[in-house]
Amino acid sequence: MAELSNHIELNRFTPRLTPDILLEANSSRAVIDTIDTYQEAKLLGLLIGVDGCADARNQAEDLTGTFNIATNPSIAASYSKDRFQYLFKHKGFAGHMTLGHYSGNLLAEYLFPKGCGAHGAKEQLDAKNIKESDVPVHDYVLNRVVSADPVVQTYHSAKEIAKLTKKPVLAAVQDHLQGIIIPTCLFLDGGESVVAPFDHQLFDDPKYLLENFYKNGKIPELDIDQLPLPLQEILVNNRQFMSNYKKDNPDFKNSQLVQNPELIVLSSSIVPPGLRYLGVCNKLNTTFNLSLPFVKEEKNIVGFKASDICDVFNQLHYPISHAATAAGSNDPFYNTGTLLLETSYLKYSKQLAYLLSMQEWMTPWFNRGGQILIGEVKSGRTKMIEKYLVV
Ligand SMILES: [Zn+2]
Repeated sequence: MAELSNHIELNRFTPRLTPDILLEANSSRAVIDTIDTYQEAKLLGLLIGVDGCADARNQAEDLTGTFNIATNPSIAASYSKDRFQYLFKHKGFAGHMTLGHYSGNLLAEYLFPKGCGAHGAKEQLDAKNIKESDVPVHDYVLNRVVSADPVVQTYHSAKEIAKLTKKPVLAAVQDHLQGIIIPTCLFLDGGESVVAPFDHQLFDDPKYLLENFYKNGKIPELDIDQLPLPLQEILVNNRQFMSNYKKDNPDFKNSQLVQNPELIVLSSSIVPPGLRYLGVCNKLNTTFNLSLPFVKEEKNIVGFKASDICDVFNQLHYPISHAATAAGSNDPFYNTGTLLLETSYLKYSKQLAYLLSMQEWMTPWFNRGGQILIGEVKSGRTKMIEKYLVV
């Protein structure tokens, strides 16, 4: 019996992050300057919107070191594009990108790129011909994730976004062991024009992709020169940034093998946490990010749709359930002991934290010592953060 309690004690989280640490990380001179640069880019119509996978190894701001990025992450970049219309239609953007990921060390052995957990779940559910599930994250995957292949998923996500904007929309993936963003397909003029390495409709033909690309361990790739300037710049930044990043972090590849962020950020802000919390979120594999779409009237956020709250909670089940049962540092989310839940009003964050804490599947994570922090964020600046006391 004594051995058992020791074992449980050893595996408890020791959360390092406090409201003060996060508030300080958001209030440095460097962050204020970054947010100013971001707001200026927005005014000039120079932002790039990134609809990427929530994975901590896939955050565009951490892969590019670029300040003019806004993000709306979801698992497998699969969230309903209609619910983020305010982002895709906003005049502050020069273009958009969907960003999936895979693990390069798995590429040659399988039919298509693997390594994203949500796509892995999709593959397993499809293999078992499961159409419905009571498991929250499986319910989300079954309803939202189109394909088990991130190349196909990002193609579909970009196509959906292109229906909502005349701005260029790029589908892209990255090998999270390399961090280099590979452009695969470009939609222009609301999808009326498509630039692809082959007839783009063949993205829907697994046999074509397998025989022409995956069989040889390749990903379909556009030439970077084929992209409009704002998107080209992001990819050039990515190549330069990752080259320096890998020099500064010689253990980079090993550090990316297992997803093990310290923090989950669930936010209604589209200013990426990597730009807002310097020293906490601006490094790969530190933060799993999920975006919560809001309802806005006039200029004010007036709340959140119940269906969005349900969809976002179902996605949260993925990191939380892994973190609750992770037994050692080789298990995904072993260190994921803090969830920051932030909206534009503390009272909303508190209400959402209450609803979340009522989910049965949160209990094992709380029992391991997981903590929820609630925050109020406006235009990228955090006004308040406090610890949520579970009732
Ligand atoms: Zn992923």
